[in-house]
Amino acid sequence: MYNTAKPPTGKYAVGVDLGGTKTEAILLDENYNILKRIRTKTPSHDYNKIVSTITSLIAEVAPNPSKVEKIGVCTPGTAYIHADGDKEVIRNSNTQSLQNMPLHHDLQRRLNTKIVMENDANCFALAEAVLGAGAGFQTVFGVIMGTGVGGGIVIDGRIHRGRTGISGEWGHHTLHIEGNHCYCGRRGCVETYISGPALEHRWEELTGQRCSMQEILSGRESLFYENNDEVSDDGRSSKSSDCRGSDNDNDGRSSDCRGRSNDGRGRSNDNINKSSIDPAGQYSIEPPGTPDNARIWRDEWFENLGYGLANVVDILDPDAIVLGGGLSNIGMLYDLGIKSVREKIFSDMASDIPILRNRLGDSAGVIGACLL
Ligand SMILES: [Zn+2]
Repeated sequence: MYNTAKPPTGKYAVGVDLGGTKTEAILLDENYNILKRIRTKTPSHDYNKIVSTITSLIAEVAPNPSKVEKIGVCTPGTAYIHADGDKEVIRNSNTQSLQNMPLHHDLQRRLNTKIVMENDANCFALAEAVLGAGAGFQTVFGVIMGTGVGGGIVIDGRIHRGRTGISGEWGHHTLHIEGNHCYCGRRGCVETYISGPALEHRWEELTGQRCSMQEILSGRESLFYENNDEVSDDGRSSKSSDCRGSDNDNDGRSSDCRGRSNDGRGRSNDNINKSSIDPAGQYSIEPPGTPDNARIWRDEWFENLGYGLANVVDILDPDAIVLGGGLSNIGMLYDLGIKSVREKIFSDMASDIPILRNRLGDSAGVIGACLL
């Protein structure tokens, strides 16, 4: 599927991607062909059921354990593995039932075999660096932009975790000292400005309307672009940009935003799609934000994105950046967004860094788990 260069060994890798809403398992052969793929709903509120779900999926995807060389598990949110006494527990996960739970230990005990575990941003970065858009680059910074903002660093095909495992967590770099409050307890974090929920919140502040990212962007190319908007150097023109959400779902609903009083909406998530639109359909008939507000919203977004990513480039000087997560399919990122990043990088020698759309899409996490 991806390349075929190695002699067959008859050994396989199993990868599991434990997501907030779904859990997926694949069986991968030594040439990176996906032989089997199974998906099920994540029982996210029940830790014991999560453990059972993962072990069942592994048994189902690989009924012959003797042929499995390794098992990798990709965990959700900004989770990382933290040494706590003799057990590793999960911290900083946005799946509450996993908080402080020894998932690694419990899975190994249930499966009676060794497994490896890594957070989803690192799995994404690894998969894209080895088999995706970052293949061939020595140092790759993988970016997740969706419900949260995270990242992973891969050097020479290996994840760089750092001393305590927080390498790449640029979502909690401080952008504005007196800025927005963040769940991490500090203020002004990158995530509080450029995550999906943060952008939706800012849109509401500017326009008084509650909209999902898809609703904000759908059909509004003319609000976000001017004829004289410059586009950047990867050849995309503003007219060809896709300003819709990640599933490119254009159902003609260009301005279905709700007034402030409607509390029934779902937040956007890493897969921005129709499900983020309130099925009750209580949309206001008010017009969308004015062009000025739309332009302010866009400019603030890319200004914050630009400073956030430029800071990373100044420190890491990677060979490529790969964008992932639910917001990464938004076309404006690849011209106006990249232009903003390039303008803020310290050295003009580094400002030509390739900033690329991911290639593996939703499969990056589960493939990365196999490569751990
Ligand atoms: Zn924070």
